[in-house]
Amino acid sequence: MRVKEGMEIGRSRELYRRAQELLPGGVNSPVRAFKSVGGEPLFIQKGKGARIWDEDGNEFIDYCMSWGPLILGHADDEVVAAVTGAAAKGTSFGTPNRYEVEIAEAVTGRFASMEKMRFVSSGTEATMSAIRLARGYTGKERIIKCDGCYHGHADHLLVAGGSGLATFGTPDSAGVTPGNARDTLVIPYNDLGALEETLKRHDGTVAAFILEPVPCNYGLIVPDAGYLKGVRELCDRHGVLLIFDEVITGLRLAPGGAQEYFGVRADITTLGKIIGGGLPVGAYGASREIMSLVAPEGPVYQAGTLSGNPLAMAAGIATLRRLEAIDAYGTLQNRAMRLKQRLGPVLDQYRGRVLFLQLESIFALYFNSGTSVRNLEHVKASDMKLFARFHGEMLKRGVYLSPSGYEVGFLSTTHGDGEIERTADAAAESLREILK
Ligand SMILES: *Cc1c(COP(=O)(O)O)cnc(C)c1O
Repeated sequence: MRVKEGMEIGRSRELYRRAQELLPGGVNSPVRAFKSVGGEPLFIQKGKGARIWDEDGNEFIDYCMSWGPLILGHADDEVVAAVTGAAAKGTSFGTPNRYEVEIAEAVTGRFASMEKMRFVSSGTEATMSAIRLARGYTGKERIIKCDGCYHGHADHLLVAGGSGLATFGTPDSAGVTPGNARDTLVIPYNDLGALEETLKRHDGTVAAFILEPVPCNYGLIVPDAGYLKGVRELCDRHGVLLIFDEVITGLRLAPGGAQEYFGVRADITTLGKIIGGGLPVGAYGASREIMSLVAPEGPVYQAGTLSGNPLAMAAGIATLRRLEAIDAYGTLQNRAMRLKQRLGPVLDQYRGRVLFLQLESIFALYFNSGTSVRNLEHVKASDMKLFARFHGEMLKRGVYLSPSGYEVGFLSTTHGDGEIERTADAAAESLREILK
């Protein structure tokens, strides 16, 4: 293992200095600024497979993977070919194009609950539009969300939201009016009692319950056995639409997302990240009946200049095709198993101090938070100072983890045995360093 003491980061540092003059915090999305792990963000120049290189030429094994979209690794040959091929024919027309139809066929074929869908340009837009649709369909105003689930940054969803905010230690954002927050009810995840009580108390006024079926934006939390089925039943009983925000889990846990994985159907589904193959895409979909309310078929307005952009759609199609062609879910399962096998013995030495939680290709590490994590309180108990030190030690050893202990790590199909070996060695050395 080559330990990069005194790693040269002069070019990143210089870019960061310039960026801070021009961009708030030097970044275009808060967690990128390394505020919660300390140190300075690295400016990444290129990536291939599981590896990335910064502007100074340092090489890392990447587990951030652009926060989830890159299930096939960086710069997959076929995805790149699809994007460049589409770009050569024109980057945007603002008209319908054939890619939109092809990808909609591919996605609705995988998600039984989505008969029709609409493409947008980000996950934020997808959830925001899904809520509007739910309100338009039911004629009701309130929504329920889970504390610690992140659904992008629309005002009415920035109520006790996810990682960036959690790091700042405030449950809300400045600039969100009480009026916007008023119709959002927040309950704990994995708590059917809280959902039932809230549904009863606000009976007849709730349009939808929105949740990440597997919360991945405030650490990783795995649903208790029966939780999602219980949620489905309660929503049915109270006539409330169930929105699964599958921006991360969709196309990652299974071709049909968490719905297929856990056997629970959502009324409205939101997608993002993987579906854009690394380009800016989001989508929402539902039954024909519900989607018929979306303009121009119905009265719920929603539009986008670059929605269904040919480059983004081509990248999505290529990604979906590749996932099927290479049996990606089998491969990911195998990669996940391998990571667990190699990290297991390392972590066993720190039982009680380090908890490694993994669901398929998604994982999180918690420090001194006990032996199980099943809600926000448990995640909050994790020692983020220790995570910050661990992050720094891993970076020195050539492993790039997401720069916040509230974020998860992602495996791709390109994380091979060599990468996993090196990661486990780096973890062993890093833990010895910080827990000695
Ligand atoms: C990333 C994410 C979003 C927001 O997507 P953006 O493309 O960043 O706007 C929404 N929901 C979940 C579950 C996410 O992980």
